[in-house]
Order: sequence, then C-alpha cells, then structure tokens
Amino acid sequence: MIFHIILLNSKNKTMSNKNASKKDDLEIYQSCKNIECNEKYNLDEMVMLCKKCGSQLEYKFKGNYSRKIKDRTDLWKNFELIPLQNTNNIISLGVGGSKIISLEEVSNEINGANIFLMCDMMQNPTGTFKDREASIILSRCKELGLDNLVFYSTANTGRAYTHFAAHLGLTTYMFMPMQCAFKNTDRIKKNKNNFIIYVDDRYSDIAPFTKLFAKKNNLTSIAPMHDRIESYATVAYEQFQQLPNCDYFVQTIASGMGPIGFFKGHTNLVELKIQERSNIPKLICIQSEESGIMAKAYNEGWEKLSKEDLPVNFSKNMFEPTLNSTNPVNNYPDLKNVLNQSKGTITSVDPILTMKHGMEFVQILKRRGIVVRPELEKSLLIEYAGIVKLAKSGKFKKGDNILMLACGRGNDNSESYLEPNAIINVGSQDPEKLFVELHKTKSSFQMTS
Ligand SMILES: [Zn+2]
Repeated sequence: MIFHIILLNSKNKTMSNKNASKKDDLEIYQSCKNIECNEKYNLDEMVMLCKKCGSQLEYKFKGNYSRKIKDRTDLWKNFELIPLQNTNNIISLGVGGSKIISLEEVSNEINGANIFLMCDMMQNPTGTFKDREASIILSRCKELGLDNLVFYSTANTGRAYTHFAAHLGLTTYMFMPMQCAFKNTDRIKKNKNNFIIYVDDRYSDIAPFTKLFAKKNNLTSIAPMHDRIESYATVAYEQFQQLPNCDYFVQTIASGMGPIGFFKGHTNLVELKIQERSNIPKLICIQSEESGIMAKAYNEGWEKLSKEDLPVNFSKNMFEPTLNSTNPVNNYPDLKNVLNQSKGTITSVDPILTMKHGMEFVQILKRRGIVVRPELEKSLLIEYAGIVKLAKSGKFKKGDNILMLACGRGNDNSESYLEPNAIINVGSQDPEKLFVELHKTKSSFQMTS
C-alpha cells in the first residue's frame, strides 16, 4: 500500500507540473471505497472499478479550494471541482449552467411553497440532464486519448454520449432497449462510425452483454459510476451558487444517479469548508409506479436489493420505459444512504395521477413558452405529480424552497427517427460476429444469429 501511495504522489507531481496553473491548490484523485484497500488512482486513467479489489471508487478533493469560477456560463465554470486536468480538453456544446426559474403559479397547489425549476431540458444540447455526464465523460476520453467507446442506456444517456463523441469524431457503440426506440429522434449528431444497437431483451441483460462485447472486441467500456456521480455534483454546485437557500431537491429517478451525485456535490462542498452539512437540501426522489422498486424497498426498510427482487416481466407497453433502470440493484445502497443522510423521501406515482397533474404542469410551462414533449418522455410529469402527491400528504409548507431538476426531454422538435445499425437478441448473439457485421454493413440490418 505504501508503494502505491508513493507512486501516486510521484505521478501527481508530474501532473501538477504539467498543469501548474490549472488546479494548483486542489488535488483531485480517485480512491477505492473499500477502506481496507484504500487504493488510489490519479486522473491519468479511467478506471471502472478498483483494479486491486474490485470495489467502486470515488473522487476525493484535497487541499485548498480557491473558489475561482471560470469566466464561462456552462457547467465548466466550476472547472476546479470537476475531474479533468486541462481546460483544452473540454467538450461542452453549451451544457449546464442552466437557468433556474421560479414558478409562482403552482405555489397554491404545493401548500404555498416556492417551486423552482432548473431548466436542463432547455439548456442542454440533446435536451436532457444526461448531457452533463456526456460532457464530462467525453472530455475525460479526449484527455486520456480513448476511442472505440462502448456504453449502454435506456436512451437519453447513450444519445448524449453519441452526440458528444460524434463532435469529437470518435467511434462509439451504443446499446439500448428496442422498447425505447420511440425516443431515438434524429436530433443528435451521429457519424458513420457511431453505431446504435437495439437489444430486444430484458433490460437487465443489456449491461452484461455490452461489457462482453467490449472485452471480446478489445474496445473501451466507458463511464465509471464515480465519474457519472461527479457529473451530477455539478447540479449541486449550480444550486448552491444560484439558489443557496434551498430546502428540497426533487428529481424523477430510474436508479438514482442524479440525487446520489447531487448529494456528493454537497459533500464535496462541506469537505472543502464552503457549505454547512445542515444546509444540504433534503432529497426527494420520485419514481414511476411500474418501475418503483427502489421506493418500495426504501419505504419498507429493505437493507439490500437483489436481482431476484426485480420484476421478471414488464408490460410491452410501459408507461415510461426510460425509467425502467438497468441498474437499481447496484445503486440502491448509495441511494438509501443519501436519503438517510439528507432526511429525504422517495415515493412513486401511478399513470393516472401523473397524467392529471403532469399535464397541468405541461400547460403551465407552455404558457411560459417552454415546450416539453410528453410523448417522448413523461419524467417531468411524474416529477411534478410526485410533488403534488407529497404536498397533499402535508409534506411542504408555505415559504419552503423546492428545486426541481427538469428531467425528460426538451429542445427537440424532430419527428424523424434514427435507424439502428443492428437489432439483436443477447441470448443468441455472438459479440465478435456482431462487431464484424457492424463494420461490414453500410445500412441497417437485422441480425439473425
Ligand atoms: Zn480497492
């Protein structure tokens, strides 16, 4: 262990010499969450899991934070707090730094509380908050010289990664559920070397196949959990800067990455001594009832979630398939922890409640000139319906400040769809053959074996 720490220090010396003007007083590194291992990695590599013990990693910030805000308006204004070494490697496309608007007209419905909306769906290039992680992960890829990138998602995240990678000219392989094809409008940039593969299978089978595809074909799996978490820490920084007196932070969740990252951002600020722990907003997570397993588990006091707890069969016509997370099992302990620590709440709403209150919210936004597309995604409707439900149960009071992160899709008026490069069934698909076929075929095709 001593050997590794010395190694880290010597590497860091090189790093800070190279970028002496960048983050001179603040050191950022990746640290194993297993306290018995405690292995550390600097920013020179993208590490999925600890190479020594296989545990998850987390970013640590040590030293003095200068509180310098860069002279820019996007999320990179907080460059010092983001795990990237050199500003030349930033690919932003105008992500983050989203406006926070006050929606006085819904106050009566929420017991007189003040509702604020962070408008990620309007600000971000592919119209969802997922662009935050795409910008940070693809900037890391650029800095580390990574290419031939493999990833999976229910749509929004993968679309965002593809868009940013296409701007950098990188080759990508995106796996997503066939059931989410209706979300895949041609609003994003996609070059010939940006492959999209639809998987006609259970969502939980997509991740293992994607990893196997990367391994067998010697490609790069990207987006470690701790990098994604740090991407959503930027939401906390922007809330802290724009709305410092915030009682509640609300987000619709699939697996809870957003709130986990938001809480991590506040934890970073507390450790850097610029935020009081008692001032961290209480987290409120809203789920769609059909995929509300985390809400059920938390409210029934479960310690853990296992794969067996997930429903085996989902309806072919899910109300909101985007929220059918590929990863609730892994994230549950972290989500439980941040809900406990922030004295938070998690609940779920059914389609009837969602359409009743959610569509009212869509109309309210429309009167403000803000267009959302419920036919592409209902996450924002679910979020608002959850707030109304909690308000009716006595949750909020007059004068409370509630910040909603705008989930769902905006900034998209396209009516045409991207063609997949392949449609596969993971049970019968050979990953090496798939790679060969993708590179052979010019247009879309259906894999048969
Ligand atoms: Zn470890």
